[in-house]
Amino acid sequence: MAQPADDDAARKADLVMANHILADLGVVDGFGHASVRSAANPGHFFISRSLAPELVSGADVVEVDAATCEAVSGQPRLYLERFIHCAVYQARPEVQAVVHNHSPGLIPFGVSGQVLRPVYHMAGFLGAGVPVFEIRSAGGAGTDMLIRSAPLGAALARRLGSGPMVLMRGHGATIVGSSLRQVVYRAVYAERNGALQAEAMKLGPVTYLNPAEALGAARTNDEQLDRPWQLWVSHLKQR
Ligand SMILES: [Zn+2]
Repeated sequence: MAQPADDDAARKADLVMANHILADLGVVDGFGHASVRSAANPGHFFISRSLAPELVSGADVVEVDAATCEAVSGQPRLYLERFIHCAVYQARPEVQAVVHNHSPGLIPFGVSGQVLRPVYHMAGFLGAGVPVFEIRSAGGAGTDMLIRSAPLGAALARRLGSGPMVLMRGHGATIVGSSLRQVVYRAVYAERNGALQAEAMKLGPVTYLNPAEALGAARTNDEQLDRPWQLWVSHLKQR
């Protein structure tokens, strides 16, 4: 079977879908955003103008230069936290898609010292656990918690390191992937893992996936990213 096109038209269409899926599954609400790198110009990426993800349509998609973190044309109102995306695309050339969200199942693991770790195979990509970004270390004690500047974006990208995800204390998370399908998958299952892990911890000591299991599960899941994506898209079409 022929692979679907992966040009910028396809990426922009998938970006609209990703916004709607993430909203549908409660990973984003009025806030949060997704982006995808340009295939034609890897120094640029696509993201919606400042808008609730559920309301995003193709006409809202803006091309942003990761170096300046401004729109390539026009003066659309952009997300205050677009610096997250700019910094990650600059720091991680292999990353093709980014999600930033505040989903409720993740927040406890940013504030409690309890490490977010994989409790089931679907979240194997969490590996040995997710680092937490402390904005006070980068921005001092009086920020509004938002990544609203290039230096804060760079500090967040450093904490992300080479991993798939970083939690942000008292705020949310930033998740990266090699495609929109992978980053949406990761954002959905990170949230579910957070909820399940918190439940499991109430019951007693938790047995997490060990590093080998986490790696094996993540590899297998990465071969099946189309399956949940197709399901989530079909749910949207039934609306
Ligand atoms: Zn945020």
